[in-house]
Amino acid sequence: MGASLMIDMANNKLVSVVIPVFQEAEILQPFLVSVRDALGSSGVSYELILVDDGSSDNTWPIILKEAQAFSTIRAFRLSRNFGKELALCAGLEKARGVAVIVMDGDGQHPAALLPELIRMWRTTGADVVQAIKRTRGAESLSNKIGALLFYSILQKLSGFDFKGASDFKLMSRKAVDAWLKMGERNVFFRGMTAWMGFTTVQIPFEVTPRSKGHSTWSYLKRFKLAITGITAFSSLPLQFVTFAGGLFLIFSLFLGGQTLYLKLTGRAVSGFATVILLELIIGSFLMISLGIIGEYLARIYREVKGRPRYLVRESTDSLVDASDNQPEQLP
Ligand code: UDP
Ligand code: MG
Repeated sequence: MGASLMIDMANNKLVSVVIPVFQEAEILQPFLVSVRDALGSSGVSYELILVDDGSSDNTWPIILKEAQAFSTIRAFRLSRNFGKELALCAGLEKARGVAVIVMDGDGQHPAALLPELIRMWRTTGADVVQAIKRTRGAESLSNKIGALLFYSILQKLSGFDFKGASDFKLMSRKAVDAWLKMGERNVFFRGMTAWMGFTTVQIPFEVTPRSKGHSTWSYLKRFKLAITGITAFSSLPLQFVTFAGGLFLIFSLFLGGQTLYLKLTGRAVSGFATVILLELIIGSFLMISLGIIGEYLARIYREVKGRPRYLVRESTDSLVDASDNQPEQLP
């Protein structure tokens, strides 16, 4: 067998592209065309794994229609909206490729970059090829500041550098299998891939503005994801509680001593204001500390229950599997 043929065979291994979609009926079709074009031009054999994250618009019927027309599409419909991280998780579990690419289904991750991701993976042999946002695209100032603040806090707390991290990347089978072994429910995809520490190469890209539709990430959702990220990667906030306690102890020793001394020498501090101020400061510190502990506790509770991370309502696989199963059981 010629060496070139060997390379051809290696090149022709299946690449999976996992795309979580939620309320993307308006842009899904043109987006899928661009993905097919890009992958077609790179000449790889591929499967598209579409995970409908409980959309209530026309997304699922459109996906089904596409899946009927193109056998390269495998689609899974989650029973409700589980959030992007868990939709990704479903897609990664279903993917069968030797490499798995993860990208957004709203066109903000340029499909034109797909051949380059695959080429980089082949030439460098890296386990993760990470597309890095060169600029953060047309985002509001508050979003940009929020992201900057979040990533710098997270980097300080966890020691991992997530700057420019996006959910647009290629992972080798080895990396995907390792990722799937992390059974946590507190899923923070980009953090978990950074945590794995496999060799990573980066490709910069510009975020394309959304042509239609709107981001479904409200401030509340973003804030929740930020808390998920921080609690998943650091227990430092808990130590902060201890630290604040220690600080207050030193302070109270000093203030207590002074008050006692003034009392004994007959010059007791007059002032209700001091008492009220102390009450308020200590009260809020206590409540914040309890909140921090509660945040971890709630997550531990969720993990301990061990519920499935997501549930699939229907999929194109089940149609195929049902007809496939019978003959397979016969020798
Ligand atoms: N998405 C999802 N579930 C959700 C919210 C979003 O699967 O609950 C998908 C969405 O369809 C898109 C990707 O996640 O493919 C990124 O979402 P979006 O564009 O809203 O986020 P942004 O680009 O603003 O970070
Ligand atoms: Mg987007």
